[in-house]
Amino acid sequence: MKINLLELHPDEFKELLLRQVDKKFRIKQLLNWIYVHRILDPDLMSNIPADFKTFLKKEFSNFIPRILDKQISQDSSTKYLLELEDENRIEMVIIPREGRTTLCLSSQVGCARNCLFCATAKIGLIRNLYVHEILSQVFITLKELQDRKLTNIVFMGMGEPLDNYENVLKSIRILQHEEGFKFSPRRITLSTSGVIPRLNDLADSNLKVKLAVSLNSAIQEKRAEIMPLTKQYPLAELKKCLLNFRKKTSYRITFEYVMIKNFNLAAEDSQALIDFIGDISCKLNLIAWNKVDYLPYETPDENDIRDFLKAINKLSSAVTFRSSRGADINAACGQLAGQYY
Ligand code: SF4
Repeated sequence: MKINLLELHPDEFKELLLRQVDKKFRIKQLLNWIYVHRILDPDLMSNIPADFKTFLKKEFSNFIPRILDKQISQDSSTKYLLELEDENRIEMVIIPREGRTTLCLSSQVGCARNCLFCATAKIGLIRNLYVHEILSQVFITLKELQDRKLTNIVFMGMGEPLDNYENVLKSIRILQHEEGFKFSPRRITLSTSGVIPRLNDLADSNLKVKLAVSLNSAIQEKRAEIMPLTKQYPLAELKKCLLNFRKKTSYRITFEYVMIKNFNLAAEDSQALIDFIGDISCKLNLIAWNKVDYLPYETPDENDIRDFLKAINKLSSAVTFRSSRGADINAACGQLAGQYY
């Protein structure tokens, strides 16, 4: 089977191709075409000799997922439905906001973690994405943006990134590599529901990446009710793991707290949240739950949000309330379902 050109790390390219080309600069030229000019068709690589082009066409695939649908929100967020080579579908969202442009990308087709407030969970896990399928979302975004700069990448689309650990880490290494996409580590955020063993691996991996943890309740039973993995990885252990993670990494952790009316906004919830994150060097992002028609939750109103913000104001961490983007096209946090639903 042919290897996709976006599947290999620059070091793997060198190892594999040094046997095929006589001069090292040919490999540099190829990497330049892929990551700087964003050209994957060997026929369009003008300074590559004919025999090298023939070899590339024989050994490598340059398949990029097809854009099946593109919806633009009133707030200019754009959701893309992409079809993979095996006809599975994923979604990604490009979000312009206050001088930044963020890509929210997917790491799996569906997800196994079954968080009750999340549309992706309804699909179940179909499969992990390959490295090239993760990176092709960046590739498509860069092409779509043309002259506009992609400033941030967040692994917050479909899937639990730490359940596709090897491929996600390799993708991030290619994104950050000097001869790859050259993204600054501080511009890439990996979001997890709290898969403790993989978080420990990530802490020991030496990979620089910002971490976001989807918390949503700091009360064990309540969190377990909406995020079943909490039974396997309890909050007390998650906290120990994150304190250890913080010691080994340089960036502050961001906690995401999806606010759900009549569920996680009472006095006991705010107190538990203060107790849980109070001594972790972190930021807290509050996000109002976005309506998904077939899920039994309610979006909080302005009073709920104001009261909760007041209740947690003794936290020393930076707290932001993020209005979700793209809710009108089901592109907001927790709404991606790849048109499976
Ligand atoms: S919130 Fe994240 S981890 Fe939970 S089911 Fe949805 S995609 Fe998976």
